Parts: sequence; structure tokens; C-alpha cells
Amino acid sequence: MTTKRTVQSHYDIFIKDCRILQSGEDGYFLATGSIGIGNGRLLSIRAEAHGATITADRVIEGDGFIAMPGLVNCHTHGAMTLFRGLADDLPLMTWLEKYIFPAEAQFVSEEMVYWCTKLAAAEMLLAGTTTVADAYFYMDAATRAYQESGMRAVLGHGIVDFPAPGVPDPSKNIDTVARFIDGFPDSSRLQPAVFAHSPYTCSAETLARARQLARDKQVPFFIHLAETKMEQTLIGAGDMSPVAYLDSLGILDSGVIAVHCVWVSAADMDILAHRGCRVVTCPESNMKLASGVAPVAAMLARKIDVGLGTDGCASNNDLDLFGEMDSCAKLAKVHALQPELLPSKDVLNMATSMGASCLGLTDIGALQEGMRADLILVHCRSPRLTPFFSPDLLVYGARGADVDTVIVDGKLVVEQGVVLTMDVKEIMGKVRTMAGKIRESHGK
Ligand SMILES: [Zn+2]
Repeated sequence: MTTKRTVQSHYDIFIKDCRILQSGEDGYFLATGSIGIGNGRLLSIRAEAHGATITADRVIEGDGFIAMPGLVNCHTHGAMTLFRGLADDLPLMTWLEKYIFPAEAQFVSEEMVYWCTKLAAAEMLLAGTTTVADAYFYMDAATRAYQESGMRAVLGHGIVDFPAPGVPDPSKNIDTVARFIDGFPDSSRLQPAVFAHSPYTCSAETLARARQLARDKQVPFFIHLAETKMEQTLIGAGDMSPVAYLDSLGILDSGVIAVHCVWVSAADMDILAHRGCRVVTCPESNMKLASGVAPVAAMLARKIDVGLGTDGCASNNDLDLFGEMDSCAKLAKVHALQPELLPSKDVLNMATSMGASCLGLTDIGALQEGMRADLILVHCRSPRLTPFFSPDLLVYGARGADVDTVIVDGKLVVEQGVVLTMDVKEIMGKVRTMAGKIRESHGK
């Protein structure tokens, strides 16, 4: 934040006199000031009162709001909003094999992915998430959905060794993803990625080919890794842990984003740190499926970048990253019986700046001049957020419903709790119609 210097006097958007979340050596703090946005970037963040000389296409009165970086959801399967609440209270393998995989085989189509991803985008934007890493199938349709939504997204096309939505012949799985990456549209907000589903749904050969594809195309490589205790027996690599197994295949390096990492030993975490891998934790999904508790603090202590994700809607069952921050911090504390563990500042960092670097995005995640203008305004005058002593309350008290305004890449996408980029009523209508077909066949 600057206090005295010559700044541009005309902005696309100017947010007047709000409280601005900033980070310092001791963690986060709030400073009162104004934010000038132009050309998609944060052009000025100033502590002094705005001058009479400043003009803007759009002025937002910031009184009563906290401006903070838009949240970064490092792992979800957007289109799975259709399966929200379809099969609850089940262990992962039963949930996947008896409910999710059959429902996907029957109901996932290009049209389903388009509309259900739009629903996910609307839900996330309304809850203050400006960037998402989405991993699924029919990703051309998901790309269109995110393009239209105004969100920032990293889109990983799925790879498994059995017939999958849009990829009926698994021998074409790598080629399909290569075509997806080659045909990806030019965009300042969107980028493609490879998503190998897991070490237990992809053979060693498929994993190696998928990793090579991501290297050749220079895109991120996502994989579900060490999610459940039984994964080690599923991969059939003897005494090798899932992490050691991937390392033995030459998969692990700094381009890898390993999702979950619940069942990782100290030796596994040393491998992940040594290889420069990044990790995403999804605490609510891990809690709901009773998969376990990821050793997040131990990974952070090894300087591993850990991002925060909701995972898909069917195992959460919402995409509210504020709630996820709360769960993440509290789960670590109660699991270790240590209230000091994983303080709110670490979790806030995971959901913003560290999450962004987890996805390889270096110009979002903090409110600093020159960065891309991805920010949200949180209404802090609600009963739930009164009084507001410190940013800790953004982790332990705020919810997505407290978000009033969302700006992505310098453009207003949510204003006063209303999505400007999409017709949310139309989206919900389409998804309800699809859900009706599931209801008929499942007797729900
Ligand atoms: Zn997942």
C-alpha cells in the first residue's frame, strides 16, 4: 500500500474508503484506503483519502466492506453439482463404484457438463471464489462455461483406464486430452491442464504417458493421491506407498499438483518436498467420506505449497471456500489436540496467495499494486461479523453469503450478491430438469 506518489487519476473501477486486507510479517491486517483498477490490474492501493481529481467509470462506496483477494479453489469437479446430495454417508469406494461412476456413465453429457459447470461457477462466484482448478470430462464444454462466467480457471481434462464420459474408448484417453489442450482458446483467464484421476484408476503406463503429455504441452498435472488408507492395496505395488509408487515411475516433480495427500508418511512428505510437488487439501470431502486427516501443518513445515479445495459437490456438498477454511483450521486442531496448530493466517494464505502459487499463478492472490484485479468485497456489518476485531474472523466467522461484490480480471462479475455474467435462474432451471431424470431412475 502506498501513501504518497503520483497515481493515475482515471480508473475503470474505483473502490472508495474500504478496509483492505494486507499481509505483513506477523500475518494479515486491515488498513483503510481506496483501490483503483484499470486494464484488469490493481493500479493503486492508497491509504490516504481519495482525491477530488480521481475519476472512474464506476465508483463503489467501500464503507462497511472488507476488500480481500478473491479466493482460489484449487480442486473441484464443477459439473458434479448435478450429484449434490445424491449419495451421502458412504465410504469413498462404495460411493464411487455404486453411485458416482454409474450416475456419471448414465447422465454425464456435453450439455450436462456445460450447464452444471455454470451452476458451479455461479455458486463459487457468489461465495467469493474467483479462481478454480476444475478437473472433469467434456472439458471443452466446461471451458465454455467458465469463459462465459467471467471466472479464472485451470481446466484439467480427466484420464482413466476405463470408458469415461466423452472418452468411450480408454485407449484414446491421452489423445483426447492432447486434442483438448491443442484446441484450447486463447484467454487471459483460462488455461488447460492434465488430470490423471488417480494411481488406482490409471495404469503405470497411462500415468507415465499422461505425465509426459503435460510436460510436452507445458501444462499443470493434477492427480488424486493418497486419499484413502486402502489406496496402497488398490495400486498393487507391494510395500510402496502411493507417493513412493509415483516417484518410482518418474511422475513427481514441480509440475505435479497432488490432491488430498491424506495418507502420507514423513518419508512421503519428504519425497513431495524434495520433488517440489504442490499439494491440495480438501478437508470437508475428506471428513464426509471419512477418508482421514491430511497432515497439512507438517507439509507446510516442509515448505510444500498447500492449496485448499472443496473437491466436487457430491462429496462436500457445497463449494463455499470460506466454510472450507474454517473446517481446515479446526480439523487440524482437533485432530492434533493443539489449538495453536494451523492458525487462521496460514489457512487464509492457503485460500489466496499460496493457493494461487499452487496453481502456478503468480499475479493473483494478494491485493498489491500491479497484480491482476481479482478481489471481493465482504460485507462486514452483518450480525455474524460484528464486532470485527481481526482478519481471523474471515476464517472462523465469514461465509460465502457475506460476499457482496466480486471482481475478476478487473471486471465486475457479482454486484450486491447478483451474478452479472450469467442468467442464474436459467442455469438452475436446466439443472433441475436434469436432476428430475436422475430422480426418476433412482427413486429419489
Ligand atoms: Zn477430486
